[in-house]
Amino acid sequence: MENCIFCKIVAGEIPAAKVYEDGEMIIFKDIEPIAQIHLLAVPKEHFKLLSEMDAPRTALVGCMLAKIAAFAPKLGLDGGYRLVINQGEDAGQTVPHLHIHILGGQKLGWA
Ligand code: 5GP
Ligand code: ZN
Repeated sequence: MENCIFCKIVAGEIPAAKVYEDGEMIIFKDIEPIAQIHLLAVPKEHFKLLSEMDAPRTALVGCMLAKIAAFAPKLGLDGGYRLVINQGEDAGQTVPHLHIHILGGQKLGWA
C-alpha cells in the first residue's frame, strides 16, 4: 500500500534491522525501543486491524505466533516475552499495518 511505512520496509524501500524474514512475514527491531529487546513482527500483506482478518489472514497470524514462539530463544527471549497488538486510536496505533510488538530481554512491568 502506498505511503505505508511497513509496506516500504517489506519492499526494502526503507531500511530496517531485520532479524527474520520469510515469504509471509518479517521481524525487525523497533526504531524506538521501549524494552531491552523490542521487535516488530509484520505480515507482508497490508491490512490494519484484527477485525479485517478473514480465514487466510487468521491462518497467517496464527502462523506468525507459532514462528515467534519457535524463534524466541534465538532472538534472546529465553526468559519470556510479551506480545502486544495495538488496535486503533485508543490503543495508540500509529502505523496502519497490523504488527505484533515483541517485548523482552528484561523483567517487564505492567502498565
Ligand atoms: P504502534 O504504536 O502502531 O503499535 O507501533 C508502531 C511502532 O512502529 C512504534 O513502536 C514505532 O517506534 C515503530 N516504528 C515506526 N516507524 C518505524 C520505522 O520506520 N522503522 C522501525 N524499525 N520502526 C518504526
Ligand atoms: Zn502496509
